[in-house]
Amino acid sequence: MARVFNFSAGPAVLPEEVLREAAEEMLDYKGTGMSVMEMSHRSKMFQDILDDAEQDFRELLGVPANYKVLFIQGGGHVQFAMVPLNLMKNRKAEYIVTGQWAKKALQEAALYGDVRAVASSEDKVYSYIPDCTDLSIRADADYLYFCKNNTIYGTVFHETPNAKGKTLVADVSSCFLSVPEKVTDYGILWGGVQKNVGPAGMAIAVVREDLIGDCLPGTPTMLRYETYAAHGSLYNTPPCYNIYICGKVFRWIKEIGGLAAMQKRNEEKAALLYDFLDQSKLFSNPVRREDRSVMNVTFVTGNAALDKKFVEEAKAAGLENLKGHRTVGGMRASLYNAMPKEGVQRLVDFMAAFEKREA
Ligand SMILES: *Cc1c(COP(=O)(O)O)cnc(C)c1O
Repeated sequence: MARVFNFSAGPAVLPEEVLREAAEEMLDYKGTGMSVMEMSHRSKMFQDILDDAEQDFRELLGVPANYKVLFIQGGGHVQFAMVPLNLMKNRKAEYIVTGQWAKKALQEAALYGDVRAVASSEDKVYSYIPDCTDLSIRADADYLYFCKNNTIYGTVFHETPNAKGKTLVADVSSCFLSVPEKVTDYGILWGGVQKNVGPAGMAIAVVREDLIGDCLPGTPTMLRYETYAAHGSLYNTPPCYNIYICGKVFRWIKEIGGLAAMQKRNEEKAALLYDFLDQSKLFSNPVRREDRSVMNVTFVTGNAALDKKFVEEAKAAGLENLKGHRTVGGMRASLYNAMPKEGVQRLVDFMAAFEKREA
């Protein structure tokens, strides 16, 4: 069996230790004689898995007691709808548009109310983070929304936007648990788990308690944060196996030393690749330097045919999923928590050899 170095943006690489452990427990979880997939979600065994996962997540992120941690089916796009459905009392919201995911979130919210882009970097193909220190936020706006790490374009907010006292909502899908967060800066912090935490199809939302309760009229039961909060994410059958894998990933991060240790590792990995890009005569990174993402590193040769050749040859060398998003082209290496430094070193070595060959 040979595992590749998988640079996919999502679903993405998971820690090998976690996959091995899950494989060992596949047929017989802790002497139950069944897989977690086959277990009642009302069993004590599963309740323990869920409770431990929530506890470890809270510890890792330092979630205060007045925030709920909710495990919600449906991934990112369901959160695009849940945020406005649960927060839009005045039917007004402000969005910072730094990429396709923020734009789609805005478009979804526009189904329910009066939504504005108060800042955008669309003018330069989302290659930078706009200044968000003094945004024109309406006095009766329900919230300010932003996407912290822009998976497709390879940018990240190094400074939290100034919400001027309004509720701040963040999509942290592609930087989830990669760095420490100050949870109290946010009303809602949510992430789809398939980028950095677990299998696809689920989001974890950290929601301040006072924001839970009022929804727009007609909001479906399963799209109310209250449903998840009141029933400990067990109103209906939850994505049990997904929660189980996420729980293992939380423990893996704790064993490494938590989010500060994770951040250090991630910054070292990204520096390896950016340092190479900065001296390369063939490859370049199209993002404004101070806004570079630590998780998703984009690069181009400036020649689409050569980009294609690079991606093909890299694949043959065991470096997979380096093709950029279909809307932007070029290349993208996603360096999530579970990507070992060795994988990034192999990529850099391969790029240097490719550059030499093509020069
Ligand atoms: C992938 C991604 C999404 C979309 O997630 P789905 O689970 O496919 O709906 C949203 N936001 C960000 C930042 C992402 O990277």
